[in-house]
Amino acid sequence: MPRNAAELPSVRLACPGERCAVETYDVVIVGGGVIGASVAWHLAVRGCTRVLVLDAAPGPGEGSTGAATGGFRCQFGSEPNVRLSLLAREKLLRFADEVGVDPGYRPCGYLFLVERQATLAALLDAQAMQHALGVAEAWPVTVEEALEINPAVAVEGLVGGVYSPTDGFIRPREILRGYSEAAARLGVRFEYGAAVRGLRVQDGRVVGVRTDAGEVGAGAVVNAAGPWAGKVAAMAGVDIPVYPLRRQVALTEPFAGLPECMPLTIFVEAEFHLRVRDGRVLLLWSDQPNTADPFDVAFDDGWLPQVTARAHRWIPSLRQATVDRAACVAGLYEMSPDRHVLLGPAPGVENLYLANGSSGHGVMHSPALGQLMAEMILDGSASSMDVHPLRPSRFAEGQPNAAPEFL
Ligand SMILES: Cc1cc2nc3c(=O)[nH]c(=O)nc-3n(C[C@H](O)[C@H](O)[C@H](O)COP(=O)(O)OP(=O)(O)OC[C@H]3O[C@@H](n4cnc5c(N)ncnc54)[C@H](O)[C@@H]3O)c2cc1C
Repeated sequence: MPRNAAELPSVRLACPGERCAVETYDVVIVGGGVIGASVAWHLAVRGCTRVLVLDAAPGPGEGSTGAATGGFRCQFGSEPNVRLSLLAREKLLRFADEVGVDPGYRPCGYLFLVERQATLAALLDAQAMQHALGVAEAWPVTVEEALEINPAVAVEGLVGGVYSPTDGFIRPREILRGYSEAAARLGVRFEYGAAVRGLRVQDGRVVGVRTDAGEVGAGAVVNAAGPWAGKVAAMAGVDIPVYPLRRQVALTEPFAGLPECMPLTIFVEAEFHLRVRDGRVLLLWSDQPNTADPFDVAFDDGWLPQVTARAHRWIPSLRQATVDRAACVAGLYEMSPDRHVLLGPAPGVENLYLANGSSGHGVMHSPALGQLMAEMILDGSASSMDVHPLRPSRFAEGQPNAAPEFL
């Protein structure tokens, strides 16, 4: 049952039982992307509604969330990522009832294909762990089975792969809209065009959040600033290893040669993957961008021949498709060194909470991250899953997550 924030034990309310001298919120969230919006809704639905979301952009979806292609999977290499996905999937299945918007979860499958036996062995090790955590539906596939699952693939050179039919697709902007609108209905205030310029820290706590319009008081502050999270943490004197990484997506003109529910198909060693969305094919290849400014999202045309060469190699029917240059997009992943989210209080500033560094998985994990963050803020610790492996201090302690990821 949702409880009233005033009864909650561990959130130190900004101004308990008295009038605040300045405008003050129990929780101020910096960043109104899908993660900030999810945190806002999960707080509000539990009765903590004196919440302010500040976003620098003129409207919702201008950060990474708006660029995301909308993949969802439980096939991860590490236990914490699988657990985050399982919790998120449970919540996506209830999303329309709870939040009032269709999150677009469509289990069309994820098919990982490999050229080397060593890569296959690593994927199968990961699959054994996924099975142990309850992803029973994931299975190893031979080259022949891969061809049955996705007949468009040129299988020469492949040795096999793994597949799960419950992985698939989600709609990032719809999830963002759902959480933002539902949180606002519960009383959360969203302000766009409101860049946070500074955080005022006293005695190891953030007490004020400064924008161009002035300062607001805060009982707790959540850093949900996506690729810009390092800059926001630095405002409180906290150094976090979260950095931007440009990722580009090529879209074809409408193309009828591949089915809409084709599994997302990943050629692991080639670092190339593709899916179909709204009748167009989305092509992704992980390059190492050579940009002077790591926040630069200008689209690099030199990348296009490289991604299309991979598309033609692995999916020959795509030689008939044309790239729609105007529809191509570039955005930023928010990377961490071990490619796992940093989740929890910032080292040294007890009421500054981090939900940063999801490393390209932030939309699919956002339902879980919002719930876990609300538990941490309102109850003092997360109860829905073990978040210890995700603690922000793990890098300073020399204990990053070691399991490999394949995408
Ligand atoms: C090409 C691409 C494809 C992707 N595909 C997938 C996918 O298939 N599945 C998946 O799960 N994830 C995917 N991702 C990753 C996903 O988009 C991110 O993990 C997720 O959107 C992170 O959400 P967020 O809310 O933390 O960040 P954002 O959506 O970036 O939101 C952060 C917000 O903080 C605001 N902000 C920043 N600084 C300040 C400040 N000082 N003051 C106020 N506001 C501030 C920004 O304006 C922004 O709106 C993809 C990303 C890209 C780029």
